[in-house]
Amino acid sequence: MTGTHVSRKHPRAESIRIRERLTRHIETGVVALAGLIAHGRGEAFDYILGEKTTPSARRAIAAAAASLLLAEHPVLSVNGNVAALCAEELVKLAKASNAKLEVNLFHRLPGREAAIEKLLRDAGAEEVLGVGDAASARIDEVNSDRRMVDPRGILVADVVFVPLEDGDRTEALRRMGKTVIAVDLNPLSRTAQLASITIVDNIVRAMPLLVSEVERLRVRRKEELRTVISEFSNEDALSDAMRRMEERLHALAEKGVYIELNGGR
Ligand code: ATP
Ligand code: MG
Repeated sequence: MTGTHVSRKHPRAESIRIRERLTRHIETGVVALAGLIAHGRGEAFDYILGEKTTPSARRAIAAAAASLLLAEHPVLSVNGNVAALCAEELVKLAKASNAKLEVNLFHRLPGREAAIEKLLRDAGAEEVLGVGDAASARIDEVNSDRRMVDPRGILVADVVFVPLEDGDRTEALRRMGKTVIAVDLNPLSRTAQLASITIVDNIVRAMPLLVSEVERLRVRRKEELRTVISEFSNEDALSDAMRRMEERLHALAEKGVYIELNGGR
């Protein structure tokens, strides 16, 4: 595997490290080339958002945690980017919320599912659904390999966690009556718009917060969890994210140049 050393002091060090992780996982077969493009689209929105978890995203995380805890059959859908970026957190989330992990890919290339399964098992997963012939069921209205699902997993799930999802499948899952929890930095995407709960945040920041929120809420009574969900509005969450981006750009536009050259111009 290739990699370069990024100085800690570099202002974009974290973002560069994440990119390196994704490109390394091109070599392991976990990440598809299209996954790099999808990541770039997300990064652009993160830049505008200010690369921080917003209070509104935290409320979405709380509603997502409550939904997972109240679910009868929660399933966490795993694609290449998510596996490469947060395999350990996914396994923690599955354990804390009693959810199943299912590999679900836009592009099912030879060896890819096995590579993702290995990453999850190395991170401590005991069961991984959706690999190879296990993805024997089909959901309607999806034109990619994402239509292939595991009859023990997504097919029968009532709550599906779909970080970095494609719009077609979000729509199909909603039409099947499922609660869909998405993580998507782009509040304008069809996924963000059509999910039941949209966490507008970087998956890398959102996952650890979601795990701790599930751990915090798991001792609460069901009534309290239902209240957390009923007080959440996805329309408001999406408006908040768009407003945050608008206000930040507006403030920066007042200045135009907002990064100072070291030692002056
Ligand atoms: P849609 O199909 O929902 O309309 P799209 O076609 O614009 O969306 P896709 O490539 O299908 O985009 O899905 C990738 C989505 O994941 C994008 O909306 C992108 O903003 C988001 N994304 C990529 N990387 C991250 C990340 N690290 N954290 C959060 N979101 C991300
Ligand atoms: Mg798409």
